[in-house]
Amino acid sequence: TIFPEYLAPLELSLIGKARRSGLVELAVHDLRDFTHDRHRTVDDAPAGGGAGMVMRPEPWGEAIDHVLAAGAGERPGVVPTLLVPSPSGRRFDQAMAHELAGLDWLAFACGRYEGIDERVLDDAAERLPVRAVSLGDYVLNGGEVAALAVIEAVVRLLPGVVGNAESLVEESHEGHLLEYPVYTRPASWRGREVPEVLSSGHHANVAAWRHEQRLRRTARRRPDLIAAWLAEHEPTPRERELLAEEGWVG
Ligand code: SAM
Repeated sequence: TIFPEYLAPLELSLIGKARRSGLVELAVHDLRDFTHDRHRTVDDAPAGGGAGMVMRPEPWGEAIDHVLAAGAGERPGVVPTLLVPSPSGRRFDQAMAHELAGLDWLAFACGRYEGIDERVLDDAAERLPVRAVSLGDYVLNGGEVAALAVIEAVVRLLPGVVGNAESLVEESHEGHLLEYPVYTRPASWRGREVPEVLSSGHHANVAAWRHEQRLRRTARRRPDLIAAWLAEHEPTPRERELLAEEGWVG
């Protein structure tokens, strides 16, 4: 990155704690350390003309070589997967987070301006897996926010990072459904009550209610996810009824 301070949040909260307890190791590199001119230049005009600037290949090449060499000493035989945040990359999702959480080493190349000279990625791809990753269908100013999001989603899946591993199981996007609504004390607030079933102490009823809520909410907010759920589950008549009530037509 050319903005190491953009990645300061990696010292906070669960990720910071995971780093301090040695569950994950993270290092931030300043791209300008790999420039050799007085102005520490990292960009230049786009070949072929057009608006904006493009990141020059030399500092990126040196930075990637440095990260590979530094890491190779610590992890002989392991190469990182290079993730390149880009609005034209594959869309990041929970399935990709699980996949990345299974890898030993990730490196991120955070572009700015109109992006990084493509030859950097072609060159890196000769030595390591390179993947362009998009946070979503919109354009950010740089890759840092995307890197933060990917790191957070991946690191919280590593064993020991989230205190109660059970809290990872019923979350949104696990098993294709969104999470059910959650409540806490007080039981009554501004005339609104916590749903009665949640105070019943009847675990099976609570579980059934939560499952219904997950289905309803997913059908209402993200009908696109229901098809993936149906591909893996034969719905019960009651589930069919709920989906129909939420206007889902498959
Ligand atoms: N001209 C580029 C394009 O249309 O693909 C957009 C460049 S954007 C202004 C600058 C940088 O922000 C990109 O190189 C990328 O690193 C990052 N970025 C922007 N949108 C992103 C997204 N949706 N997901 C991941 N990274 C993104």
